[in-house]
Amino acid sequence: MSTLFDISELHWLLDVVQSIDVGVVVLDRDYRVQVWNSFMENHSGKPASHVSQQSLLDLFPEIDRPWFTHKVETARMLGTRAFTIWEQRPYLVRFKSYQPITGQADEMYQNVTILPLRTVSNQSDHVCLIIYDVTNVAINKLQLETANTQLQELALRDGLTGLLNRRHWESCLEHEFARHTRYSSPASLVMFDIDHFKCLNDTHGHRAGDEVIRRVAGMTRQMARETDYAGRYGGEEFVVLLPDTDLQGAGQFAERLRTGIAQLNIEHEGQTLSCTISVGVACLHSDMPGYNMLIEEADRALYQSKAGGRNRTTLGIAGERVPRTQA
Ligand code: GH3
Ligand code: MG
Ligand code: MG
Repeated sequence: MSTLFDISELHWLLDVVQSIDVGVVVLDRDYRVQVWNSFMENHSGKPASHVSQQSLLDLFPEIDRPWFTHKVETARMLGTRAFTIWEQRPYLVRFKSYQPITGQADEMYQNVTILPLRTVSNQSDHVCLIIYDVTNVAINKLQLETANTQLQELALRDGLTGLLNRRHWESCLEHEFARHTRYSSPASLVMFDIDHFKCLNDTHGHRAGDEVIRRVAGMTRQMARETDYAGRYGGEEFVVLLPDTDLQGAGQFAERLRTGIAQLNIEHEGQTLSCTISVGVACLHSDMPGYNMLIEEADRALYQSKAGGRNRTTLGIAGERVPRTQA
């Protein structure tokens, strides 16, 4: 089946081409349709008699002309097949998808083979397009990719609050610590812990406690910037890393957060709950040997807030060392 003549002479071969479950189109030098099988008729709704001798490019304006003609001309010139795959372009011609299992795909995903057809004189005038419906494959792959992305995202987050989990948060801190040390830019850490949370659990139950944790996390996420790293460090202990923020700026953020959380009315099974937090703030110093030190300083400041009566913010050892912004 090397030329169009062979095809038209062989009746049984035409039958095969007609009934095969892929699109078969033969185009002449000017992209006019010479062969249009039943797959193409069924999916385009255009009978062969309507499209015959018409330019494929006119029939389907969605075809990217420069790209498609370049591909066809190259295949013709080299006398070799060319391929287009759905990952690069979802389809050549827009067909509705009738795949029952998908539901999501409105259009048929297609792979296309461009096959130059040689005449007896070895001229390549016509090309054959073979259009494969790969909607199922494409949807499966896209669903898998989406699921993988969601799984990866889930592995980084805490299940109850959606904040970064401790392990991932620490790796973000490590990364930011290296960056800020290299560029001598400020960065601060706000660490806080819910006050008398054990009592809240004991009085209202563990589920009420969970709801309080969720709402505290929600307020934290709401107040933090896109570039901040908010994480759940332990049971009812949270951390927010604030890049490019000095101790004072972080202190202001901490106070906004503390007062915001204290004002929360948390409805749970007919009860209105509230809570307060104690906060410790620390910032990077030029003589800080590692990121753990930042956590330790914030933790110490947090402990001072607890010891000082709770529901307050303490700035970590400011004055004993020179903060980066003033260096
Ligand atoms: P303080 O003001 O000193 O922080 O007192 P506290 O009672 O909050 O501190 P403590 O560390 O003694 O208690 C924390 C409690 O948090 C103990 C633990 O049962 C509870 N907890 C930890 N994780 C969760 C959780 O995911 N859900 C609930 N409901 N409770 C939790
Ligand atoms: Mg606590
Ligand atoms: Mg605690």
